[in-house]
Amino acid sequence: MCGIVGYIGYRKAVDILTSGLKNLEYRGYDSSGVALYNQNKIDVYKAQGKLQNLVNILDEKRAEVENSTLGIGHIRWATHGAPTTINAHPHTCNCGSLVIVHNGIIENFKELKVELEKKGCTFHSQTDTETVAHLIAQEYAKTKDLTEAVRLATKKIEGAYALCIMHKDEPETLVVTKRNAPLLVGIGEGEYFVASDVPAIIEYTKKAMYLNDNQIATLTRNSLKLIDENNTEITPKIESLPWEPVALSKMGFKHFMLKEIHEQPDVIRNVLNGKLHTIDEPINLEEVKLDKETLKNLNRVQIIACGTSLHAAMVGKYLIEDFCSIPVEVEASSEYIYRKAITDEKTLVVGVSQSGETADTITAIRQAKEKGSHILIITNRPDSTMAREADSLIPVNAGIEVSVAATKSYIAQLMSFYLLAIYMAEVKGCITKEISTSLKKELIILPQKIEQVLNEKEQIKKIAKEYSSFKNFIYIARGVNLATAFEGALKLKEISYINATGYAAGELKHGPIAMLDETMPVLSILMKGKVYEKILSNAEESKARNAKLIALTDSKDAKIDELFDHVIRIPEVNEILSPIISVIPLQLLAYYIAEYLGKDVDQPRNLAKSVTVE
Ligand code: GLU
Repeated sequence: MCGIVGYIGYRKAVDILTSGLKNLEYRGYDSSGVALYNQNKIDVYKAQGKLQNLVNILDEKRAEVENSTLGIGHIRWATHGAPTTINAHPHTCNCGSLVIVHNGIIENFKELKVELEKKGCTFHSQTDTETVAHLIAQEYAKTKDLTEAVRLATKKIEGAYALCIMHKDEPETLVVTKRNAPLLVGIGEGEYFVASDVPAIIEYTKKAMYLNDNQIATLTRNSLKLIDENNTEITPKIESLPWEPVALSKMGFKHFMLKEIHEQPDVIRNVLNGKLHTIDEPINLEEVKLDKETLKNLNRVQIIACGTSLHAAMVGKYLIEDFCSIPVEVEASSEYIYRKAITDEKTLVVGVSQSGETADTITAIRQAKEKGSHILIITNRPDSTMAREADSLIPVNAGIEVSVAATKSYIAQLMSFYLLAIYMAEVKGCITKEISTSLKKELIILPQKIEQVLNEKEQIKKIAKEYSSFKNFIYIARGVNLATAFEGALKLKEISYINATGYAAGELKHGPIAMLDETMPVLSILMKGKVYEKILSNAEESKARNAKLIALTDSKDAKIDELFDHVIRIPEVNEILSPIISVIPLQLLAYYIAEYLGKDVDQPRNLAKSVTVE
């Protein structure tokens, strides 16, 4: 999390830094700050809260800041220390000559701080980051060389970092380095840009260099020197960024989230494009680099992910087991990495992440790779760390998702799992032509069905208004839609801060039913198929405890209208494909409740989109 930008060149640094930070706001919005080199001194400006607070300060001081052509900036997602102005980056050393911005966590900061205090360093913030500023300054006092000081200081650091540093006595220099956190250098004519992510710099350049762990780049206006931790010079690998500058516009929608929900039919068309030509042909998934023999001999699949991606993974498990009869384990990356995860070359390990930078998932796939597993990555960012480390990569092509609560990237991940599961089943020869043809036929018409749901959003808006005063919700489902219940509840929690929990409907009577009364609405996901009648019975049990009931269903059954207080109807769909449609009304319900409550829908409190710390 957190966004870093840096600039050295000939343009007004303040504009580049603030526009870059604006495009990194999805990474955090606890506070922001910039440091500008200005007439032989460095000035630091910081503000608590949203970036606009900093922009207002900089606007007031326009005359003072606008001539600088060298600076660094930061937007914070606090890990150590409250989100106050004092804890905002950039942080400085004792004398203020050295400034740094940091993304990540310094795990040994307490030990370092004790040592540094003994050496006379005074700490002003509660952050882990400030130790790094002092540490580099101490090395600089000895070496008088910023790059060397950074190289020596970072050897003493444990943890994850992306750092951008400047020093008053080196007015022509920016030094950047990273370990287990993303950082790239954009390359222009007589100028360089530094950023945590492409959107911050794409407006200015399409040429960039991604730093590898422990590499240090020293930038002047006309040179880029790259070294490794042993001071060996490395030839920079310059890449073309695969992006066009995008106008991050809401296109007339009140929030990015609502716009992104409406983009989902096109997202599905994009995912299918090139992979599902006609219903009679096998799925074309050349992205999967496992040779067909190895794929046939796989004896297990492990899917690791966090948050919304974990819910896509749960649907993926259901599909791969159903179509391919291979056992699949799904696990939160943060759990996977701290136990004896058993994996080998006969296990396919799938990592799922919107950003491709999720720290826990990166660690998990590296562990699995060491044990010989083939690593397949499903991500929205083909330029991310996970994508670059993948053996096989399925880029989901959902386009930039600005709203912190994931919607269209979830749909794209789900679609990727449907294609992967059918592809694997076709290679293994374990799906009949009849079944695969009928699935493909339905996949192609899913976008129209979602458009139908979106056209009826007014009905969901009304229900949202009626339920917006409840403090707790339960979502129940079974089978392939259990993940939909989890995802629907997560959306509501994330953006409205209402306590919503998803449960396997059959589990209700083993505990959660104790909570039911008229203050706890129960939303049941009832798609026609294997578990329909069972969920209906679970809803009856809830009714008997006075809970208000909402049904989300594709059934026209009159029983439903009798039993439930409110019914959200979606077009009929094959049960196994239903998670792709059933989640849409739940996204809308969460959106309208949060909007009705006046919450900050696109930037909910305490969250960030790219979770780059463990
Ligand atoms: N650990 C640093 C802090 O709390 C940086 C956090 C981040 O990466 O957002 O300020």
